[in-house]
Amino acid sequence: MADTKHTKVLIIGSGPAGYTAGIYASRAMLEPILVQGIEPGGQLTTTTEVENWPGDTEVQGPELMVRMEAHAKAMGCDIISDIITDLDLSKRPFTATGDSGTAYTADAVILATGARAKWLGLPSEEAFKGFGVSACATCDGFFYRGQEIVVIGGGNTAVEEALFLTNFASKVTLIHRRDELRAEMILQERLKKNPKIEPLWFHSLEEVVGTDNPKGVTGVKVKHVKTGEITEIPCSGVFVAIGHAPATELVKETLELHNGGYVAVKPGSTETSVPGAFAAGDLTDHKYRQAVTSAGMGCMAALDAERWLAEQDD
Ligand code: FAD
Ligand code: NAP
Repeated sequence: MADTKHTKVLIIGSGPAGYTAGIYASRAMLEPILVQGIEPGGQLTTTTEVENWPGDTEVQGPELMVRMEAHAKAMGCDIISDIITDLDLSKRPFTATGDSGTAYTADAVILATGARAKWLGLPSEEAFKGFGVSACATCDGFFYRGQEIVVIGGGNTAVEEALFLTNFASKVTLIHRRDELRAEMILQERLKKNPKIEPLWFHSLEEVVGTDNPKGVTGVKVKHVKTGEITEIPCSGVFVAIGHAPATELVKETLELHNGGYVAVKPGSTETSVPGAFAAGDLTDHKYRQAVTSAGMGCMAALDAERWLAEQDD
């Protein structure tokens, strides 16, 4: 028979929002269960230096997340390695089904499933994923020692990935569809100073070119967005860094969404359109999407859940 676990508060997600909710909910004696999902520690585990986490001038993303997990655990949060595959918010207690077969029933739910990397959607990108096409420089940069690489995008992630990849690559071409970056000025300055990085403005990726045997990338075809001219750039790695989309798979049919698919919450709160279900972090935030803001929202969600549960008992 399938295992069933009941909790007052079920936290789904183990990024800064989830772990912070875990710390606060534990300290409120709510004995929360936190389900980590496929990426324990969340997006920060895919980066290296984090320089804007208050209290740490510089900390490695994965290390920071290990510390957050240990903190939540020390406060009494029950951290479980599982993936929620279904969430029924139609009746209380809510029921979440784990990939392990465990059913989690909960009086309140905190959704902190964050965001996932976006892809361009090209057939050739799909064909070479894992064979030269990646969305994670920290994970795959090491394979490109002394080789030429392209990075697609113009935000913080693209610039950070390009800078990081110069540790390995002989040359990094940053391909952006405009001639202006979205990345913070400090990162733009570092980019300009790095002799290994060459920006290619007003270009979009048309096709990843490669061989089947052995399977690998040999170059990219890029299009000038104004003239339509196609150019081929030789490279052995393509890093797609065009942003992240909120992970709403569990709730997109049941909760109100806004701002292009993010979970809607009441202004100044983490309350979603279903009473007892709260949302925090990148899942609900189209604007800031930072570790510190996600952690802040995780705190708010735990406090909101605590107050809401207390009201139910009145
Ligand atoms: P996430 O970190 O996205 O975590 C989501 C969690 O939900 C994961 O643990 C996942 O396993 C879990 N999950 C998803 N679906 C399920 C499911 N079905 N069942 C169970 N669990 C599930 N921000 C900064 O402030 N400073 C930086 O330097 C910085 N660098 C970054 C570098 C990179 C490369 C990237 C991609 C982002 C960076 N960010 C940075 C942004 C920051 O990582 C995010 O804002 C933050 O991680 C969001 O936290 P979160 O808790 O909302 O979600
Ligand atoms: P982002 O800020 O949304 O930037 C995405 C970039 O990709 C933009 O430059 C965009 O171009 C481009 N792009 C989007 N779709 C494209 C497409 N189909 N084809 C070509 N280019 C496309 O995403 P992000 O850089 O991943 O950052 C996400 C969030 O995490 C941000 O809030 C960011 O601040 C945060 N973050 C913070 C840090 C840090 O603090 N150090 C590091 C990484 C990430 P346009 O500019 O033309 O729209």
